[in-house]
Amino acid sequence: MTRSETLFQAAQLVMPGGVNSPVRACRAVGTYPRFLSEGRGSHVIDVDGNEYIDLICSWGPLILGHCHQAVEEAVLEAVRHGLSFGAPTEIEVKMAELVTKMTGTEMVRMVNSGTEAVMSALRLARGATGRSKIIKFAGCYHGHSDSMLVKAGSGALTGGAPDSAGVPAEMAADTLTAKYNDAASVRSLLEANPGQVAAVIVEPVAANMGVVPPQPGFLEALRGLCDAYGALLIFDEVITGFRLSAGGAQRHYGVHADLVTYGKIIGGGMPVGAYAGSRKLMEQVSPLGAVYQAGTLSGNPVAMAAGLAQLEILENNPDIYTALERKGKRLQEGLQEIFRKAKVPAQVNRAGSILTVFFSKTPVTGYDQARACDLERFAKWYRGLLEHGIYAAPSQFEAMFLSAAHQEEDIDAILVAAEEVAKTL
Ligand SMILES: *Cc1c(COP(=O)(O)O)cnc(C)c1O
Repeated sequence: MTRSETLFQAAQLVMPGGVNSPVRACRAVGTYPRFLSEGRGSHVIDVDGNEYIDLICSWGPLILGHCHQAVEEAVLEAVRHGLSFGAPTEIEVKMAELVTKMTGTEMVRMVNSGTEAVMSALRLARGATGRSKIIKFAGCYHGHSDSMLVKAGSGALTGGAPDSAGVPAEMAADTLTAKYNDAASVRSLLEANPGQVAAVIVEPVAANMGVVPPQPGFLEALRGLCDAYGALLIFDEVITGFRLSAGGAQRHYGVHADLVTYGKIIGGGMPVGAYAGSRKLMEQVSPLGAVYQAGTLSGNPVAMAAGLAQLEILENNPDIYTALERKGKRLQEGLQEIFRKAKVPAQVNRAGSILTVFFSKTPVTGYDQARACDLERFAKWYRGLLEHGIYAAPSQFEAMFLSAAHQEEDIDAILVAAEEVAKTL
């Protein structure tokens, strides 16, 4: 037995499924999780000493790769001054100044995860509009708060249960679900619930049913519908924020959202989330306004140090995004060519540096198509990649993430491995 298997056995005795977050358990792909011990740039090493090219990058946060020197040094420096105060610190001001500047928002509140960011933004939307219903899209994932576990993506979809037990029916009743890339489905819900919808929340690029980019005009249509029906538009940029561009999806697609949620990249690998928007909206949050929200460890100085160091690098090096686009495009086109040659029907969806391989004859533009793909073939593909030293997401309902640390040689190596694996599918 490998050391990973031994650890996994021990873990399952004391942790549900042996993990602290479900997709990590690798159940959908028929294997056990590799326990990781070290990351270096674009590579990770497991407890058995196997080295992999990392296409998960902590599910997105590590856009500069593992152990980036500037991020590491900023964290160590912060640690020396104290882990936490529960009082304002200078770095929180710097962080808020940089985040609002990069994202074109006016005010931001730091929290500790993407889940918390979304939960808080929804409360603010409800408080500001005096309305209670929320429209989300089937297959979009917005963290695990009660009202968002309705037709959810990511681990909920991987586990085959997009609606969670333990969510009161009354709570779920206020969550209406529309179809991604189908603005007409949103219009119908808004018309059927006049004056009741507080917000439409969307992943501007859906990445938790696998990567499904917005079709031209879809995000613009959502903006128009929200304006027409008095609902707020919330972009959940927990994945796309600081990834599609330094200014996230809002700047990339030129569509303005009323509230935006962040997570993953914003913390540089530390647990951070944030929600941001106009001064007028954000001033309704406590202690200024009536919408209560707080956090003992929010704005934690060590977490802020990691996030700020990473964001400063992204802000000051726009060429990172050009390179990510180039590497993403090469990987996408290379994979498509490999599947074409191997006569394996597959779609490689991509937005910038996030990609998903769907085993499907027809294009995947939404939830229904994503669910209809060949998941057994995906499991085989995953296990094949792993054997060839490629560490990809263990579920089709997730993205592969590239980082600035991935070199052209990494892309070469991934394509060589993919070609071998494709032959076995
Ligand atoms: C990961 C994710 C979340 C949840 O963030 P956590 O930090 O895991 O709580 C919310 N929304 C989107 C779009 C995500 O990808």
